[in-house]
Amino acid sequence: MEETLQELFKECKGELQSIGIDLEDKKIGKIDIHLSKRNNKRYGCCKQENPVYTTKRIEIRGHKKTIRYDRYLNHHIEISPWVMLLEKNIIKNTIMHEMIHCLPYCNNHGVEFKRYAHEINKKLGYTISRVGNKEEDFKKSNISFKQKETYHYKILCEKCKQTFYRKRISKEFTRKYRCGTCGGKFIIEYL
Ligand SMILES: [Zn+2]
Ligand SMILES: [Zn+2]
Repeated sequence: MEETLQELFKECKGELQSIGIDLEDKKIGKIDIHLSKRNNKRYGCCKQENPVYTTKRIEIRGHKKTIRYDRYLNHHIEISPWVMLLEKNIIKNTIMHEMIHCLPYCNNHGVEFKRYAHEINKKLGYTISRVGNKEEDFKKSNISFKQKETYHYKILCEKCKQTFYRKRISKEFTRKYRCGTCGGKFIIEYL
């Protein structure tokens, strides 16, 4: 899965290059991508380090003041493993979404983020949005999507994509068990 992710990341990079968004530009800094160790609800995230101090600003929301930076020099994108079970174009949408967050002034879902998303959608045929629609994305990928509140874990077979649900599972579940149908590894998602 990690290999596929690296390949798709390369593809996305190339596509951005083709429309004039050069990720080798020093202003952007370094981007790496990995599968997240834990399965999260969210599709992916981008952890940023080494802010460019001249881009510091203070955001005020109500009584809360937060220091923000508009540019960072290191970006670590993490993609949730369950995303890798979805259709290729949905995976790439997720990667692209996180890549936009690495661009200057894009580490939120503000005007600049939207501008890039719109440009990439239009020129490269993506459907990047602020948030993904899990139910729809699972349906498109022909994987059953059943999210009952009584279950805390969703277990997916990496190979045959069989899905089932559990309230509790042992810590070593993925290490101990394999899919009964095809012998594939399981991926756990915390609901
Ligand atoms: Zn985002
Ligand atoms: Zn299986």
